[in-house]
Amino acid sequence: MKWYKGNIHTHTTNSDGDSSPDHVASWYKDNQYDFLVLSDHNHLTILEESKTDLDKWPLLVPGEEITIREINGKPAALHINGIGIKELITPGVYESNIDGINDVVDKVNMQGGLASINHPNYQWWVSSDDIKYSKDAWAFEVFNGHMHSNNEGSLHSMSTEEIWDEILSSGKLIYGVASDDAHHFTEEFSSSRSNPGRGWIYVKSNSLRVEEIIESMKKGEFYSSTGVELQELEISKSKIYLKIKDRPPKEKQKYTIRVIHDSGVVFFEKEGDELEFDTNGMKKYCRVVIRSSEGVNAWIQPFFL
Ligand SMILES: [Zn+2]
Ligand SMILES: [Zn+2]
Repeated sequence: MKWYKGNIHTHTTNSDGDSSPDHVASWYKDNQYDFLVLSDHNHLTILEESKTDLDKWPLLVPGEEITIREINGKPAALHINGIGIKELITPGVYESNIDGINDVVDKVNMQGGLASINHPNYQWWVSSDDIKYSKDAWAFEVFNGHMHSNNEGSLHSMSTEEIWDEILSSGKLIYGVASDDAHHFTEEFSSSRSNPGRGWIYVKSNSLRVEEIIESMKKGEFYSSTGVELQELEISKSKIYLKIKDRPPKEKQKYTIRVIHDSGVVFFEKEGDELEFDTNGMKKYCRVVIRSSEGVNAWIQPFFL
């Protein structure tokens, strides 16, 4: 088994991105990504060439950002990625967020794909209740690199991690993904623009093939990152072992590792680059988050105890 790095949310000129599918795919190949989902709004972008030449292209996993712009006759911002789908999915007419999620999740599942609810805090559009009380999506975005995604929440609104804990505490399993949602591959790279290289996942798989990558993602055999990489990760219901990979900067990073359970409560916390942990005594679910002193994270996928 190997770890493969991939971004599962990005845009091209087939929707509102500033660069062609070729240019976007090349950017990810040049930056050492193994696979990529070109997730244009209501458009299935496939790069035929990439199917045969993995020395030149990242593995392209077909995908689409199913984009619902109107609900109940009013403007809406409900966006759901269909990853590993085979045919374009056109959004229907919906009366509520839950209605929209139910329909899209069904359509994605019917094609053998994975449905991910994108940027819940973009325009504060999707609540934890919307996710709790709708059909099981495979994942939601705990991190989205777009400048208007509000991952951290606000004084009055939950952060994406708080949303995650609320859903998990209700007994519903959902994975948390990190993605770029990149639109801008040319001109200046800055925090006020929607650039690539901000959030990705590492998937554990036998080989770099679409079916196997999708299968591992489906089973939760991946973790999400904005810059923390693991050298080892072993998880069972009773034990977790992880070791963080050293990074090159001159001054060594400091890492805080938190083990979280029911209601988002921190069950255990330590500083360092290694965790050997027994889940005995934990309630309901377990997830681990690692934060570096540099401000980047890794999120290990939750599991129920
Ligand atoms: Zn979106
Ligand atoms: Zn997007």
